[in-house]
Amino acid sequence: MQRAGELLSSVFGFSSFRPGQAEIVAAVADGRNTLAIMPTGGGKSLCFQLPALLREGVTVVISPLIALMRDQVRALSEAGVAAGALTSGNTEDETEEVFRALDDGRLKLLYMAPERLASGGTLTLLRRIGTSLIAVDEAHCVSQWGHDFRPDYLRIGELRRALNVPLAAFTATADAETREEIVARLFDGHVPETFLRGFDRPNIHLGFAVKDQPRRQILAFAAARRGQSGIVYCGTRAKTETLAAALREEGHAACHYHAGMDPDDRRAVETRFQREDGLIVVATVAFGMGIDKPDIRWVAHADLPKSIEAYYQEIGRAGRDGSPAETLTLYGPDDIRFRRGQIDEGLAPAERKGADHARLNALLGLAEATCCRRRRLLAYFDETAGPCGNCDLCDTPPEVFDGTQAVRKALSAILRTGESYGAGHLIDILTGSATEKVRQRGHDDLPTFGVGRDMPRGQWQAVFRQMMGHDLIRPDPERHGAFRMTEAARPILRDEATITLRRDTIRKAATGPVIRALVSDEDAPLLSALKAKRRALAEAARVPAYVIFPDRTLIEMAETRPENLDQMARITGIGAKKLERYGAEFLSVICGSVAMVHPSRRKLAGRAEGDVFDRLQAAQAELVRGADGTGKYLSCTHSTLRKIAELSPRTMSDMVRIGGMGEQKTERFGAAFLEILNAG
Ligand code: ADP
Ligand code: ZN
Repeated sequence: MQRAGELLSSVFGFSSFRPGQAEIVAAVADGRNTLAIMPTGGGKSLCFQLPALLREGVTVVISPLIALMRDQVRALSEAGVAAGALTSGNTEDETEEVFRALDDGRLKLLYMAPERLASGGTLTLLRRIGTSLIAVDEAHCVSQWGHDFRPDYLRIGELRRALNVPLAAFTATADAETREEIVARLFDGHVPETFLRGFDRPNIHLGFAVKDQPRRQILAFAAARRGQSGIVYCGTRAKTETLAAALREEGHAACHYHAGMDPDDRRAVETRFQREDGLIVVATVAFGMGIDKPDIRWVAHADLPKSIEAYYQEIGRAGRDGSPAETLTLYGPDDIRFRRGQIDEGLAPAERKGADHARLNALLGLAEATCCRRRRLLAYFDETAGPCGNCDLCDTPPEVFDGTQAVRKALSAILRTGESYGAGHLIDILTGSATEKVRQRGHDDLPTFGVGRDMPRGQWQAVFRQMMGHDLIRPDPERHGAFRMTEAARPILRDEATITLRRDTIRKAATGPVIRALVSDEDAPLLSALKAKRRALAEAARVPAYVIFPDRTLIEMAETRPENLDQMARITGIGAKKLERYGAEFLSVICGSVAMVHPSRRKLAGRAEGDVFDRLQAAQAELVRGADGTGKYLSCTHSTLRKIAELSPRTMSDMVRIGGMGEQKTERFGAAFLEILNAG
């Protein structure tokens, strides 16, 4: 494992394993059959890429998505790992190069689409090249009951038997049935060493908001994250188009995506999103499978998803690189009605409908939660956790009240009017508003008429929405959405149970958008300069930006401002190969740009010492390779220059004592520096 740790930093540039990775890497490298279930973004790829480097022979990686295979191969090549792919997307030249590399014994990883397994020559090929490990990505594609079923995955078990090598299977889908199927089909029923990593995605901030001018809410959310890649999920195709247009109008790069589009147009959006930095895709749920962009910084739901599973999957596309990501889910009474209706009017058998209502209820419970959302989300997946500190309710606990009496009043109004009305009319009755409809039906004579005058209308709307959210009442699609009481409400009606409600979740947005920047104001200009450099390199190499460096690497660069390659090498995500390839270019962005002011220099801004600092720096630049330009490269750090400017030593012996100077640098620069200081 020591070697694994070395490769982790020298090849991948990571200083430590993510939770669970070390154990999986050890098992796979050791040649044990393994099944690893990790959440999206958990860092699966590393769990077969690193063992591939540790093992003799070639690791064959079977993956269902051609575009993703190609990106992984590129990313590996960038890191100096010999990898190739055999897919239908290859050019003839590419395929030939892969075969040449295989024949020379150069390749460590061979990616392959499952379709290849159908061809007779494949087994012979894999035998000839010395395959020593099979890695199966998205292993749940072997499940015939799942919606990602790929018939060719069924050939993998046979391949494993024929090659008689260990197999490592990876998936993010954890349910027990799928797991059993994977074991049956890939491992002939012999349970492999299994790793189940939790569902938590701690870097994703969770947030919900009640709809209140939803378009404005989405635009504000995007405005605060300008330039960051994001997805907006919408309930309808039409809305994806209008919302994308609205975002463009506000100056964002945005496009829409839905299943009604021409396949070529859809692919174009997918490719753009994958490659571009800062694009927003406004999409229906059709935008999902095949999105493997690690640096999606936010996901917003303009409409409520259909279940807690769908919600988890959709927000899970954000922040796979482990850097902070944010989510916002909007919902309102219409969403609840729409989702209930969808289930009720669907063609599924009654039993299935019941289960679908339960999944929707779980999501509504999350939406109406009164304390930590992550805790509640994880509880749904049978995981226990403390308050997370990274959700809207941990940020700002909501105001709550004992809603038992209010709910009982509302239920009474519903029952006394024969479960035939929607919220508007019921609220009229409760607040004692004698509208024409109320009078016509004699509802102003009901004992419940006016019993809710103590609360304003808006508050009653929040109560009804939360009653729907807690599944105490359901809109009846057969009676124009009139509310019916559910069994769950009975204990409250009978005064056997109490309920806590949120006072009003509609909070007016603070004036002016709060910009959620990835770095502090000070570092922001440097970060955008680094991103521009990355974009240029990515475009030249025709790879996605993150293949050059992930966001986190650039953020760390902007924050720590390495001054030389040694310091650069310590940054997360920079392995030896990438340091060699890109280190100097990014270093020149950090150190070379005159517009970029180093914090040490900034501290002197507006002071006489600032001017001295600049002159010291200029003098130093003349002498980095000595007076004749052939000496060893030497330079002082910004903080050393700052100390010199502030302390203003007047002799060589004072100079040499300044932290960071020492003999060599004093000899090189001392005289020039003293001249400046004595002149000042
Ligand atoms: P998934 O499990 O969804 O396939 P990936 O393998 O694509 O996830 O990894 C997600 C991201 O996490 C990638 O950007 C990868 O570079 C990064 N990553 C993986 N392992 C580590 C690690 N040990 N330290 C830092 N980043 C890591
Ligand atoms: Zn929380």
